[in-house]
Amino acid sequence: MRRLCSAFGIAVTLSGCMGGGYGTAVAYLPHVTPKISVTMPSNAPPISQQFMPLTRNGGPGHMGLDVAAATGTPVLAAAPGRVSSSRFEPVYGNRIVVEHGLDATGRKVQTLYFHLDSRAVAVGARVARGQQIGTLGETGLLSSFPHLHFEYHREESPGARVQAGDNWWQGMVQEDPNRNWVGGPGRVACYTGQRAARDKITYPVACARR
Ligand SMILES: [Zn+2]
Repeated sequence: MRRLCSAFGIAVTLSGCMGGGYGTAVAYLPHVTPKISVTMPSNAPPISQQFMPLTRNGGPGHMGLDVAAATGTPVLAAAPGRVSSSRFEPVYGNRIVVEHGLDATGRKVQTLYFHLDSRAVAVGARVARGQQIGTLGETGLLSSFPHLHFEYHREESPGARVQAGDNWWQGMVQEDPNRNWVGGPGRVACYTGQRAARDKITYPVACARR
């Protein structure tokens, strides 16, 4: 499946790919740079599609990670924060945005969770790292199989005055989530109760018990 996802490029990218088994991550598409070397915990559900920035000529990108797992698998807050959006819309289905406050340089950080089967938190709720905020699903027109589309956004510059919630695109930069794991770039970390800086993330889908 890993080879299929890369070989068919854009066409497959748009509809997604199922990914491999637990503990696996598909390769980045060949044209994507930089590629981050990714190591997965063996009990983590697979990354079925990697980050792909928009191309210079306006080609499609994939501005987050996909995690493939069974419908109903718990989706977890990747870091502590406050829910700024929790709603259904037709394209991404049930979606949640969590604001994590400021990073060390004073830039806002937020994470986004799309295609949820159910949402367990409302706007304004405070969430802890690892807290369940919903369940994984396939709601929305852009989902053809159960997966979480997960994005990591950071303010372009300190004090860009980005509005919370649904205006997330203004002044925010979509980063490859693999840059921001609590264990370091590419070192995917399941939530195990660890503490870390608010701009460092743990896996947004529940890992299997070992
Ligand atoms: Zn996706």
